[in-house]
Amino acid sequence: MILVFLGAPGSGKGTQAKILIEKLKIAHLSTGDMLREAVAAKTQVGNEAASFMSKGELVPDSVVIKLIEERIQKPDCKNGFILDGFPRNTTQAVSLDEMFSKYKLKIDHCVAIEVDEQSLVKRLTGRRSCKNCGTGYHIEFQAPKVKNICDKCGGELFQRNDDVEEVIKDRLNVYKTKTSPLIEFYSKKNLLRTIAGTGEFSEITERILKVISK
Ligand code: AMP
Repeated sequence: MILVFLGAPGSGKGTQAKILIEKLKIAHLSTGDMLREAVAAKTQVGNEAASFMSKGELVPDSVVIKLIEERIQKPDCKNGFILDGFPRNTTQAVSLDEMFSKYKLKIDHCVAIEVDEQSLVKRLTGRRSCKNCGTGYHIEFQAPKVKNICDKCGGELFQRNDDVEEVIKDRLNVYKTKTSPLIEFYSKKNLLRTIAGTGEFSEITERILKVISK
């Protein structure tokens, strides 16, 4: 099964993808995670991407398209995968279609996760992750037992440098202007399945499972 997750920053795409890959035994392809790893490892891609990411802008299309093309050829993608954070604009969506016809793949569903803007800002500003194991927290909705310390491994929690209010505004703006046209793009292809992204994690997972089983 191949799924595209569409949603604004903070809509829960990554969280839901992590839950669903376990249930569906498919791979999780997050361009945001790949780029953050590249930045941390100071690779050529990372050095090129860093300044765009810290401002909340999109990294050049050619960079992310190449990352995805390399990634989908890895053995763990054989069973299928979730694209989380890619495509982010029409150019990327068209390139994905071309890439899929080259590799004889097809998108089964595009799941659009809807969350109101006020909730998105609250989710993003409070979001923290463990430096060590990557577990996600929220200072209000999902606080660790000890402030700034991971419940699972005792690692220190950190805030992404683009999860600060000034950058969040720009990221939401980029979503509105560049990414949200993809709703129409996938709707025209009859692939769009829209779900509400508010409520308990498990309820949202159930909604996704329901729309992809039809
Ligand atoms: P995310 O973790 O998906 O919120 O992505 C974090 C940042 O990585 C974004 O604000 C962009 O700067 C960059 N990024 C992630 N995916 C893409 C993409 N498909 N195209 C361009 N930039 C991306």
